[in-house]
Amino acid sequence: MDCLFCKIAQKKIPAKIIYEDEHAVAFEDINPQAPVHALIIPKKHISTGLDLKEEDNALVGHLFQVASRIAREKGIAERGFRLVTNTNAESGQSVFHIHIHLLGGRRMHWPPG
Ligand code: AMP
Ligand code: ZN
Repeated sequence: MDCLFCKIAQKKIPAKIIYEDEHAVAFEDINPQAPVHALIIPKKHISTGLDLKEEDNALVGHLFQVASRIAREKGIAERGFRLVTNTNAESGQSVFHIHIHLLGGRRMHWPPG
């Protein structure tokens, strides 16, 4: 399958990987929108949140655990941070392998735009 994030997870394309375990990988976003901007992905290919199955529930929880771990390691947990998962065209999703953006290290705006 021709998927950028599958290739990053399989180390076929380089990325600044900051966390990895059996089920998940996290790496620095190539075009950071905040001082901390990491992407947390499952190793399993899932295109969007709309494609999640009941059997993926634990995996999604695990991705949030990884996000919290990275936020603590980066020293932004107490200050606060934002987790974002874009879904389909109007959200701006550009890579169709589900991912959580971890954004922090600056004041986040609301509404997000
Ligand atoms: P989204 O627009 O929500 O699908 O997010 C995709 C994100 O992937 C964007 O923030 C991009 O900057 C990021 N991105 C695209 N290609 C790479 C890459 N090769 N390595 C790291 N991040 C990437
Ligand atoms: Zn993929």
